Amino acid sequence: MPLTGTLVDTQGRVVRDLRISVTDRCNLRCVYCMPAEGMPWLPKEELLTFEELTRFARVCLALGVTGIRLTGGEPTVRADLPKLVRMLADLAPGLDLSITTNGLKLAAMSEALRDAGLTRVNVSLDTLDRGRFLQIARRDRFHEVIAGLEAARRAGFRPIKVNAVLMRGFNEDEVVPLARWARGEGYELRFIEWMPLDFQHAWSRERLVPASEILARLGEALPLEPARVEDPGAPASLYRYRDGSGRVGVIASVTRPFCGHCDRIRLTADGQIRTCLFALKEYDFRRALRGGASDQEIAGLLAAAVWRKEPGHLVNNPAFVQPARGMSAIGG
Ligand code: SAM
Ligand code: SF4
Repeated sequence: MPLTGTLVDTQGRVVRDLRISVTDRCNLRCVYCMPAEGMPWLPKEELLTFEELTRFARVCLALGVTGIRLTGGEPTVRADLPKLVRMLADLAPGLDLSITTNGLKLAAMSEALRDAGLTRVNVSLDTLDRGRFLQIARRDRFHEVIAGLEAARRAGFRPIKVNAVLMRGFNEDEVVPLARWARGEGYELRFIEWMPLDFQHAWSRERLVPASEILARLGEALPLEPARVEDPGAPASLYRYRDGSGRVGVIASVTRPFCGHCDRIRLTADGQIRTCLFALKEYDFRRALRGGASDQEIAGLLAAAVWRKEPGHLVNNPAFVQPARGMSAIGG
């Protein structure tokens, strides 16, 4: 029997966006994400195989998902990533299939990813200064990210989005330089508020640079106006530069939550579904996938999990408890 139906929750939100973490491992150690040492990596046998990932994605597509983003950890450190991209792209012609990456491997991999069917690329870069990059990412690899961005552009990916997490005391003074640089290069910049999802639980509100401050800094140097919203489920508030082309976005998950429009679910590298980044509960799909469940049964379990999707996160509530697993394990 063919699978039908949509993934809807008690608030009437419909899931359209699946984020798949293909590995929890990474070749950087960004201070807002991971400790310098001692990360508890998942054992390899717990990672979903490409076949398991593709099967799960197929069920999601049959239930109304229209976009898949590969993330991690650092997705490009998973061996044979272009092979997985090809397997997913083959599921549905025209599928919106994207990746969020730190860019280190894009110089070597952009063409293979494009040829395999990847449609969009987001690259994370928090500073334009090599010394600061070393401080933030704890690796001296700034130039590889720049080379990766250029390779992605040469490979024809458009738009290329750049994600920058701001932390007070590290890079809040780079709001305007990053914006000018991205605009000049033709990249679409997204500033991201630091979220309480770091593995070492060092997050603090004092270190977070709020959207209000980001927009004030931007507005002083580069007058902005709200841009037309194409995708109401997208987390970024988008702005246009008043003096010409280009856009910039702010993802203000903490100070301006957008839970009411959230249309995403996340599959962790070890096959757990999370219906909110900040959820304390995970639904074990690896067990179902490895335990002989049919596609119908997996669809039923998924519909039940989505039905219970959290109405909103509690980061601004005194009762908030940070999830034990951080962003890199969940799939940012
Ligand atoms: N390694 C890839 C990368 O860095 O792009 C993909 C995974 S990373 C977890 C996805 C995005 O989440 C990146 O843009 C990263 O900067 C961001 N991120 C990581 N930890 C964060 C945190 N605690 N708060 C806000 N954003 C975070
Ligand atoms: Fe790695 Fe991305 Fe986390 Fe940085 S943000 S440590 S690149 S997973």
